Amino acid sequence: MNILFMGPPGAGKGTQAERIVNEFGVPHISTGDAFRLAMKQGTPIGIKAKEYIDQGLLVPDDVTIGIVRERLQQEDCEKGFLLDGFPRTLSQAEALDDILTSMNRKLDHVIDLKVDRDLLLARLTGRRICKSCGATYHVIFNPPQQEGVCDKCSGELYQRSDDSEEKVGTRLDEYINKTAPLLAYYEAKGLLRQVDGEKEIDTVSKEIVSLLRG
Ligand SMILES: [Zn+2]
Repeated sequence: MNILFMGPPGAGKGTQAERIVNEFGVPHISTGDAFRLAMKQGTPIGIKAKEYIDQGLLVPDDVTIGIVRERLQQEDCEKGFLLDGFPRTLSQAEALDDILTSMNRKLDHVIDLKVDRDLLLARLTGRRICKSCGATYHVIFNPPQQEGVCDKCSGELYQRSDDSEEKVGTRLDEYINKTAPLLAYYEAKGLLRQVDGEKEIDTVSKEIVSLLRG
């Protein structure tokens, strides 16, 4: 089962990814983890990646692709994988096809977790932090007993500027614009499975599992 998992920030992708890998016994491969592993193992491509990262430079595409290739060729991926955070561009998607073809494999499903932009915005802008003790709250998921006031120390709650509607909206729009061509690419290949990510966590998991068991 070779799965690519996509979804915007705030869609609950991490939780669902964890459930899928447990259900199907495949490794969860995020680009961040793959980079850390290659650098730790000191593979040639890992050493190359480290040079860029240590200098604070952007890692070029061929290095990122090399890291993903190396990771997918490891033994634990033999029965499948759940790839997350790669590809981000069409040329990376084509590179992924090449990697898999060279391994006599292909993607089976591309899951896209769909959540309405307004709902994502509400989830991602809901965090509040206590000015006095640093306790964190969320206006939807973990509200304080009294709005704007810390339960622990009665301190004033504030919103970080990174969590503002403007900043979060920009991040979401960037994600949506960048992934639109990828979704179209996989739809044309008949691989795209869109899942309603607004339902209850358990319901979403069940839908994904039954889709994958198809
Ligand atoms: Zn407090």
